[in-house]
Amino acid sequence: MTVREVKGAGQGIWSEVWEQILMTDVAFFRRLSVRSLDRIRPAIAHFIDEKEILGHGVEIDDRARLLVAAAACRLTLNIPAETYTRLRCVDVYATLFEDEGDGHRIEGNARLHRVSLAFDRLEAGLRGGSGENVGYHEFAHVLDTSDGLFDGVPPLLVDPSLHRSWTLVLEAELARVRAAVEAGEPTVISRHATASESELFAYATEVFFEAPTSLREAHPALYTLLAKYYAQDPLAAAGRV
Ligand SMILES: [Zn+2]
Repeated sequence: MTVREVKGAGQGIWSEVWEQILMTDVAFFRRLSVRSLDRIRPAIAHFIDEKEILGHGVEIDDRARLLVAAAACRLTLNIPAETYTRLRCVDVYATLFEDEGDGHRIEGNARLHRVSLAFDRLEAGLRGGSGENVGYHEFAHVLDTSDGLFDGVPPLLVDPSLHRSWTLVLEAELARVRAAVEAGEPTVISRHATASESELFAYATEVFFEAPTSLREAHPALYTLLAKYYAQDPLAAAGRV
């Protein structure tokens, strides 16, 4: 195994084995520019260093750690001040799991300091093409709550001027998704997003990264808002604009 220092990380090493795992199993990683790769590698190494990643029926090896960290760090690639400081632990389950002891099995959950993920769903999301990613969803909840409030408004670190439009856009888009669901129309964003602004932010984040063309066509204002918040434009990155 060859290893090299991660540029600018201040900690951690990066191995060619890690690079190979991410290139093989994470579709977005293969598409990143050289500059983005230089930023995300230290972020992933830092996440793995800092967070406790626990397995439940699944072995937590380098690949499992990398896949969890890659999902988290894709969201914050261009938000350097956001390092998931409140997040302490990620529980990884082999597949759908029961969270509340009520017989209801789920694929992910986020609390103030803790995220839980179904690993098979995370793997599928990172392979790309499904338009869904439970990792993006739950880590978006972590971003939302990093100011202490679970309200669909994350701290707006890159562009604080978004504050004015954020609530207006989210409220209007939530009303549109609710109206479509009530009318029995198909929706680009999961109908589960109708539960609240915070669910809309999390579900819209999945579509923003995984099916950006659909989101921009169906919800252009929401696409623009998320592009400003994440300081990323997945359509431009994919060479489709
Ligand atoms: Zn959610």
